[in-house]
Amino acid sequence: MLWSLLKILFFVILVAALAYGAGILMETGPGLRVAVADMEFVLGPLQAVILALLTVVGVWLLLRVAGFLVALVRFLNGDETAISRYFSRSRERRGFQALADGMLALASGEARLAMSNAAKAERFLRRPDLTNLLSAQAAEMLGDKGRARDIYKKLLGDDRTRFVGVRGLMKQKLAEGDTETAIKLAEKAFVLKPRHAETQTTLLQLQANAEDWKGARKTLNAKLRHGNIPRDLHRRRDAVLAVCEARDLMVDGDEPRARDLSIEANKLSPDLVPAAVMAARAYHAQGREKQAVRVLRRAWEAQPHPDIAAAFAELVPDETPQDRILRFAQLTDVRPDDPETRMLTAELAIAAEDFPAARKALGDLADTAPTVRALTLMAAVERGLGSDDEVVRGFLAKALSAPRGPQWVCDSCATIQPAWAPVCGHCGGFDTLAWKPAPANQAALAGASDMLPLLVGGGLEKSAD
Ligand SMILES: [Zn+2]
Repeated sequence: MLWSLLKILFFVILVAALAYGAGILMETGPGLRVAVADMEFVLGPLQAVILALLTVVGVWLLLRVAGFLVALVRFLNGDETAISRYFSRSRERRGFQALADGMLALASGEARLAMSNAAKAERFLRRPDLTNLLSAQAAEMLGDKGRARDIYKKLLGDDRTRFVGVRGLMKQKLAEGDTETAIKLAEKAFVLKPRHAETQTTLLQLQANAEDWKGARKTLNAKLRHGNIPRDLHRRRDAVLAVCEARDLMVDGDEPRARDLSIEANKLSPDLVPAAVMAARAYHAQGREKQAVRVLRRAWEAQPHPDIAAAFAELVPDETPQDRILRFAQLTDVRPDDPETRMLTAELAIAAEDFPAARKALGDLADTAPTVRALTLMAAVERGLGSDDEVVRGFLAKALSAPRGPQWVCDSCATIQPAWAPVCGHCGGFDTLAWKPAPANQAALAGASDMLPLLVGGGLEKSAD
């Protein structure tokens, strides 16, 4: 209220001031004298002020028109101007809209729509690094391998998209089963992006499958350096690869280097059975018996395994059964209650024909852990002790349908592998084998009495209890 009152007051004062100013100007004699050619104008003071104002407005208009004309000329010449900026902004907007539509189409599984949107986006944006990515994925989704490959090859030309191109081609080669080319592409991808975890894993897997142990160890170290693998897993896998490299060197006849590598592998992972066995052999060959015993004891402590016992026997190949029992105490002391240790002790006693000791070692193993091996050993012990044939046959019959006990089982595909290997023979997984009881469905042999019908067929029911 007060404010509007003030405004009205202000307006009245302004009008009064203007009228007063105009009055003063009118009274101040003749104003401006202007001569154009032969004519002479005499302007009053008020007219002079109005003329001055009009001149200012006219000059301003003239400048605007001139600026527009200059912009038009430059636009026609192809220079960037407000006009061309307007058009390019609109083109860019439509291009990015097409790109976004394409990505949405891709996400909803409409590959053809994605492809046409990618083409549209390319027309508006001229950004092949962006639109080719979309086209490549759309082509992959359509199953158009040839087209996808052509686009990947285009991506190789630009520094920013080279990695994506290499990775795409590598995946195609892997799917085609062309591992030789895939490994080369994986190596290239690894050089371009050494930190990329997926590339490291793929390359490592390919190198392990191709038995390129040295290359695989390098990749594994890069994995550790870039924090893509826990330190303890890295040590174990490095040991696995070192064992394999040592094996190859042994085959090639480079025994000194093979021995060093075996010992290195054992130091990296003392629990790894094949590494411990190879290290023990290496120490034995170097005459370092104490170290050989030490690594086998350490491995037995982690996991009693028949291969460790065999390597321990190899240390003194031509000893008497009695001497062997005495010497093996160094190993069997470590985990005396483990079924593997008890069966080993029984085997040693049977070899020395000390059947009561063998039976004592086995104890209740035939009931608590009835594996093929435990039951077969029981049958041998009973035979040695002079028991009835029926008892012996009973254990053998049970052995036929008993679980086989721990074996090298793949953690990834759960198949049993006949021997330890760095790569699963069934699914190709790297470092997936573990020494453990096989899954129930694979462990037992079917139909015990079918296997030995004449031996156990009739007496099975009677003697199996
Ligand atoms: Zn497997």
